Amino acid sequence: MKELLFVFFLLIAGEGLSQKTLIHCGLLIDGRSNSTQQQVTIFVEGNRIASIVKGFAAKAENDLLIDLSQKTVLPGLIDMHVHFEGETSKDQTLQRFTFNEADLAFRATGFAKKTLMAGFTTVRDLGGTGVNTALRNAVNQGWVIGPRIFSAGKAIATTGGHADPTNGYRKDLMGDPGPAEGVINSPDDARKAVRQRYKDGADLIKITATGGVTSLAKDGSGPQFTYEELRAIVETAKDYGMHTAAHAHGPEGMKRAVLAGITTIEHGTLMTEEIMDLMKQKGTFYVPTLTAGKFVGEQAKIPGYYHPLVAPKAAAIGPQIQQTYAKAYKRGVKIAFGTDAGVYFHGDNAKEFALMVEGGMSPMDAIKAATIVNAGILNMSDDIGTLEPGKLADIVATDQNPLQDIRALEKVTFVMKEGVVYKQ
Ligand SMILES: [Zn+2]
Repeated sequence: MKELLFVFFLLIAGEGLSQKTLIHCGLLIDGRSNSTQQQVTIFVEGNRIASIVKGFAAKAENDLLIDLSQKTVLPGLIDMHVHFEGETSKDQTLQRFTFNEADLAFRATGFAKKTLMAGFTTVRDLGGTGVNTALRNAVNQGWVIGPRIFSAGKAIATTGGHADPTNGYRKDLMGDPGPAEGVINSPDDARKAVRQRYKDGADLIKITATGGVTSLAKDGSGPQFTYEELRAIVETAKDYGMHTAAHAHGPEGMKRAVLAGITTIEHGTLMTEEIMDLMKQKGTFYVPTLTAGKFVGEQAKIPGYYHPLVAPKAAAIGPQIQQTYAKAYKRGVKIAFGTDAGVYFHGDNAKEFALMVEGGMSPMDAIKAATIVNAGILNMSDDIGTLEPGKLADIVATDQNPLQDIRALEKVTFVMKEGVVYKQ
């Protein structure tokens, strides 16, 4: 209620012509510079940052003042890998048969709000049924409180592959899903599936280049697309201005995806040095999703938590991701911040930071991965990812300095998105 009143207040206040919001920042991490600034004022006008000046500027009579003088202020965080249509639970498999789209949608609104309150003002939703795309629209319309969403709609798989929507079903329910449902078996199918996603309103294309942990299928890491199919997907996506993300655990499918020109590799569990070098050559980003890896590895120890087909894959794949990430980072692969929220609990996204730092990255670089780096991948560098004049006012703050203790980011105490305060 408090936050709604505040939004209302801001809206009323917005009527005045030269009305500004001043934010006094104790410590500023701007997302671009490697150094911090102490005691600065951010001027917000409408939904954008107008200027940033040294010292705590005095407000004019009509201005609003937000006092973050005891806090560390940084750009709104960006998570490149969430799934708002789901969340881990023992009966997640059953929910496929008991949930209607409306159930998925109403539940997703709660996940979206939790994510925003955790300081994530932008996310990439890497696969659902299409409810994810509707949720993006609802947030944009202001019907629902949540982060800005870039949606992949329904992920693209091959028959029986990770993200084939009828995997593990009995025969009469299994049917034969095709490109519209995100299942392809030729380059022609691949082009059709991409074009269908464009038509459905997706912002980007997600594929499942190898087997996966959570699907009801035996294989968690083998290749699942031919190179020609992958090429067709990447080329067609480019035609429509969309970038591409590939779920990949095993090396063969991962390598094919990198060679085909995929933008981001998700998980990357069994990434070889050869693939790391290829990724450096091609400028491919690695989104490690360490939080999900850790979580499934732990949950697999609880008897009956996962389906019998899933549990052994979770136990084998999960614990390996962090060491792969550490090696890839050391070798110079470009790292983007992404967590696979939904595989673990929504709102815990910032746990990824500590795992990244544990793997060898500096706190500042981990913050940059979640801000300026991710903004670039989304082709949004003009609008988000740094705190600079002209950018959208996506601003978060922590009580403690995350450069001293990265876990400070797990407790974001202030959230502004596009000039509107959602948490204070
Ligand atoms: Zn995922």
